[in-house]
Amino acid sequence: MQQASRPTVILGGGFAGLFTALHLSHQNYSYPIILIEQRDRFSFKPLLYELLSGELHSEQVYPRYKELLAGSSVIFVQDTVQSIDLNQHRVTVASGEIFDYSNLVLTLGGKTTYFDTPGAAEYAMPFTSGAEAIALRKHLRHRLHQAIQTPDIQHRRLLLSVAIIGAGPAGIELACTLADLLPIWYDELGGDADEIRIVLVNRSQTILKGDVNSHLRCTAERALRRRVIPVDFLFDAAVTEIQADGVEYQQNGQTQLLQAGTIAWTAGTAPNPLLMELPILAQRRDKRGRLIVTPTLQLPDFPEVFAAGDCAIDSDNPQPPTAQVAYQQGKAIAHNLKRTREDKPTVPMEIQMRGTLMKLGLNEGVANLFNKVQIKGQPGHFIREATYLQLLPNSAHNRKVTTEWLSDELFQRDRPFSHMQLGQTPLLSGVAAIAAGIILATPLIWRAAQPTQFQQNLSWTGIPALLNQLAPPR
Ligand SMILES: Cc1cc2nc3c(=O)[nH]c(=O)nc-3n(C[C@H](O)[C@H](O)[C@H](O)COP(=O)(O)OP(=O)(O)OC[C@H]3O[C@@H](n4cnc5c(N)ncnc54)[C@H](O)[C@@H]3O)c2cc1C
Repeated sequence: MQQASRPTVILGGGFAGLFTALHLSHQNYSYPIILIEQRDRFSFKPLLYELLSGELHSEQVYPRYKELLAGSSVIFVQDTVQSIDLNQHRVTVASGEIFDYSNLVLTLGGKTTYFDTPGAAEYAMPFTSGAEAIALRKHLRHRLHQAIQTPDIQHRRLLLSVAIIGAGPAGIELACTLADLLPIWYDELGGDADEIRIVLVNRSQTILKGDVNSHLRCTAERALRRRVIPVDFLFDAAVTEIQADGVEYQQNGQTQLLQAGTIAWTAGTAPNPLLMELPILAQRRDKRGRLIVTPTLQLPDFPEVFAAGDCAIDSDNPQPPTAQVAYQQGKAIAHNLKRTREDKPTVPMEIQMRGTLMKLGLNEGVANLFNKVQIKGQPGHFIREATYLQLLPNSAHNRKVTTEWLSDELFQRDRPFSHMQLGQTPLLSGVAAIAAGIILATPLIWRAAQPTQFQQNLSWTGIPALLNQLAPPR
């Protein structure tokens, strides 16, 4: 095959890769688009907590690629990339199939790292994909069932203790979710929720250290303490070993053991190991091994190769490794691929950071607008979920999902825990219903009174588009 007519091959169907493929298809790219991905389902990572808790269904946040790509021109290959030959323009997958490319897109993301901690790979549960979220849910349910049948109080407390390693955003969001969720699940079984313990284990004294969400630290700390079961902190603790039923750590020069029946690991990610095998000089990588790209998202020594998301970095304009960056990069790569094939120069990409969002419990969140205003509690939760559901990759899928979600929010349908929040009274339910009414009415009133201002201020949240779908403006 002539090199120019070879396909564009995309490796990894996460935020950066999937959005590159969809944008190429959408702009009627006239060359074959091949997306190679090892899994059969796309993990919408910011909403994995909702998958674990059952707040959202798996079809909503863990959809099959076949469904997402139906009707597009993308050829989906479910296989594991084994080697990439940048000089021969060739990719080999586990089944032995070979793909020669004209352009390559490297969007392989990152991989959980345990920093060589003994026992961690065996006994700690990572939380980075839909499959891992479902595995953690099953494990937690199993522990609760074991606990309810265990008369020995000490053993029961061990089964009911959850250690979460890492106090970055994923550790905090997971801790907040479990601290509201486990009491409800245990209450359903007839257990005493006060026996549950959730401990956030962190190497330093500070949560969200060096993270894009660090200005939400106080809000997050407060939320962790105000859950149904307040989250315990174990800080300045260097984890030295993970055992089947506990975490060994060093604190103030002493080795100690935290007993726990569930150990979740959110402490670190490293770039995909395949990237380390590429013939790319050390000065073309950052300290963590990520590939340095030009502002047009190309590899400086291999301009036919684009790279983005968690596996790449533009060292002149570094961005946090987030979904909101990765999906914008996917769109920019698609645009540049089209220009490349038309013999036009590629253009630098501009990232628009849209504020940050965190889940801080069931029905509770925080939306940080332009680092100036924080919208917390249920309104924060509403903005967060509306924003993410609006970003789901396929518009038909997206409309179904957002409509289902909003009607669940309005009518509290199909919500596995909506009727059994611990400690909720009819008075609180009434107050919550009024609050929900205000939350939902406010944007409608604002949109009617000041349509331009409403659009400008909230466009990044996806709420204007969401309301347009559900209640078109007059
Ligand atoms: C629990 C959690 C919560 C998060 N919350 C947020 C949030 O609230 N907001 C936010 O902006 N970001 C969030 N992030 C970060 C965000 O999800 C990542 O930055 C984003 O997914 C990066 O996109 P990517 O395309 O680079 O990589 P990924 O989304 O990781 O995709 C990489 C893909 O490559 C595939 N792959 C890897 N190796 C191979 C191989 N050898 N062969 C074939 N396929 C392969 C993987 O299966 C995967 O599908 C969160 C992350 C986690 C884990």
